[in-house]
Amino acid sequence: MHRLRGGDAGALKAAADLLQRGELVAVPTETVYGLAAHARDEVAVRSIFTVKGRPLLDPLIVHFASLEQVSQVCEVSSASQLLADRFWPGPLTLVLPRKADCPIPDLVSAGKPTLAVRIPAHPLFRQLLQESQLPLAAPSANPFGYISPTRPEHVEDSLKTGVAAVLDGGPCEHGVESTIIEVTAEGRVRLLRPGPLSLESILALPGIEEAGAEPLDDTAPVAPGMLKSHYRPSKGILLFTGSPTNAAPGDAVVFLARPENPAAHQFWLSERGDEGEIAHNLFHLLRQLDGMAEIARVYVEMPESNAGVLKAVRDRLNRAATPPD
Ligand code: AMP
Ligand code: MG
Repeated sequence: MHRLRGGDAGALKAAADLLQRGELVAVPTETVYGLAAHARDEVAVRSIFTVKGRPLLDPLIVHFASLEQVSQVCEVSSASQLLADRFWPGPLTLVLPRKADCPIPDLVSAGKPTLAVRIPAHPLFRQLLQESQLPLAAPSANPFGYISPTRPEHVEDSLKTGVAAVLDGGPCEHGVESTIIEVTAEGRVRLLRPGPLSLESILALPGIEEAGAEPLDDTAPVAPGMLKSHYRPSKGILLFTGSPTNAAPGDAVVFLARPENPAAHQFWLSERGDEGEIAHNLFHLLRQLDGMAEIARVYVEMPESNAGVLKAVRDRLNRAATPPD
């Protein structure tokens, strides 16, 4: 896998050329690194599933440069338009009805009548969408079920074959995957996956109301981000609040904020418990600990608050701590 440095002349053009030829390119986004392919190229899309070991039933998010491009493939209702105007570009994915003549292959959305779409905010990814003029299907650039990548080296470390290049945009700002919202036919919204943009901020928008709790499409899982076990490191993750009373000497202990007198094998996600910093560092620290041979298990402090991005942090930690069935 080549590393294309985002600031280098020619890097974007090289990435766009690879994508146009049907190759896979890992790209920086403001959430996590994505594994991008030309979304209308069914062969390229199929290779995303192969490289990640992702089941074909797990639909992908498609990224666009503009709302005009989105409206060529999906029905954009007035509620969707409100959300797009307010939150795009940004870390919000909308699940919208496909248009009857939608040119995106069914494989992208696992045969569903809906498509997950997003206009990202990361400057390099936006420039790539402009340069290539392609819709880009891009799930997180990690083996299925493992921790999402938030730095280019995470992609290089865990995807060894099938990826032509990674576009280096440095560490991702948010560090957790986008918020996914389904917009129902009645124009109401339903949270499918918590992320950097909170449901509270979405519902604060005049004209936006929450739909009932039951997903319209109950052929679950609607979003594999919703699988009970996901985002798993290979070491056992154990959650605690207060103090980790059962931690043994070989275990790492991860606190939300820096402890006063940190002992060996104690780590922290932020200096003072800032929620944005906690999310930003979460996957990077879990990966580092996963690679440390002297550490047996990892105890992680669970945020008590469910507000803002901490809802997403709690969600990812709960899944990381759940063993597969
Ligand atoms: P990833 O990019 O790997 O974080 O995964 C994208 C997420 O979007 C997955 O959890 C998908 O199931 C979800 N998703 C994509 N398309 C749809 C759709 N049409 N309906 C519901 N969820 C979707
Ligand atoms: Mg993923």
